[in-house]
Amino acid sequence: MDRTDKKILTGATVLSCCDNNVRERVDILIENGIIVDIGHLNAEEESGVEKIDLRGKTVIPGLIDAHVHINMTAGPDFFESVARETTTETVLRSVLNLKRILASGVTYIRDMGGFRYLDIELRDCLKRNLIDGPGMLASGKMITMTGGHGYHFGRECDGPYEVRKAAREQIKAGADVIKIMATGGIVTPGVEPNSVQLSEEEIRAAVEEAHNAGKKSASHAQATVGISNAVRAGIDSIEHGVFLDDKVIDLMLERGTYFVPTLTPPVRILANANDHRMADYVVRKTKSIIEHHRRSFQRACEKGVRMCVGTDAGTPFNKHGDTVFEIKMMVEYGMTPLEAIMAATKTNSELLGIDSTHGTLERGKAADFLILEGNPVHDITYLERIEAVFKSGKKVEIS
Ligand SMILES: [Zn+2]
Repeated sequence: MDRTDKKILTGATVLSCCDNNVRERVDILIENGIIVDIGHLNAEEESGVEKIDLRGKTVIPGLIDAHVHINMTAGPDFFESVARETTTETVLRSVLNLKRILASGVTYIRDMGGFRYLDIELRDCLKRNLIDGPGMLASGKMITMTGGHGYHFGRECDGPYEVRKAAREQIKAGADVIKIMATGGIVTPGVEPNSVQLSEEEIRAAVEEAHNAGKKSASHAQATVGISNAVRAGIDSIEHGVFLDDKVIDLMLERGTYFVPTLTPPVRILANANDHRMADYVVRKTKSIIEHHRRSFQRACEKGVRMCVGTDAGTPFNKHGDTVFEIKMMVEYGMTPLEAIMAATKTNSELLGIDSTHGTLERGKAADFLILEGNPVHDITYLERIEAVFKSGKKVEIS
């Protein structure tokens, strides 16, 4: 950067998410996209600095969404985009998704399964500032058994040797995280949410490769046995976790496994159950899991599992840029607003492995934050009343 870009925000109510405290009349000094000081500063002493008066406003860290599919359309027919779109169409649509996500207050995302490595290429374009959007981690192709969940765009493989090779391929392509499928799921025809897919031995091969390369691993996991296979194999996070029981929750607590419940997709599917463009099996399977899913989420919260926030955006009627809907659901199902916000910031940054630079507002970290009209700890809907989004110290065009 040629010139020092310096600004000071003054007099804000701040939830830094370093701890549970909300602090009043806080000043934040930002230099070249980094928070260089935070606390009760002497703003008058700072000369040649842009001053932003935030009295009456609340500042929180930018939100993180730990589970999106940037290449997916959120259309009723899940496979339409895979089958019919050209690469250019998918990329242009994804670029719009990225802009929408950032404008909604989400400053970091983790993609959990892309098409033809486009997710990885988009992540690199974001890094080089060729396009606008949040920070991003990408997983490349999801690793699934032959005919397993997501096989239409995932990497099919069977047996620990093939799974290991598939994981190495993703790492070679530039994946930040390895995504595997431990069970069936909703949107793939011919598989069921409560069926076990990759075995513990197969999953262990993928997890080992991820960890050897210094990366994290994540598993789509709905059936109880599949969840427990993934946790025993050392997976870093369970995605969805539809059929949790106390035994597997205890195992997650023992292993420190993170949980990304993704409460949004079943709710969106059932709200649109009469749309004839959506396959019958999608609605049938969703009806069979939604209650279990809610109970699993609540039990995991009660028992103190490390809770994270992810939307699974891109699945039917689950549009990009609506992470706040997921956070509101977590609150509706029993979390406090503060707990849900901590999950979407601090805990998500730990899950993504970006907690040394993101996820909380403190000295030395990225100046990714939201300016809100009021304090969301008292009323979570303040997350919908965003006055401004800042990414790396720069104000994002919301319009
Ligand atoms: Zn997903």
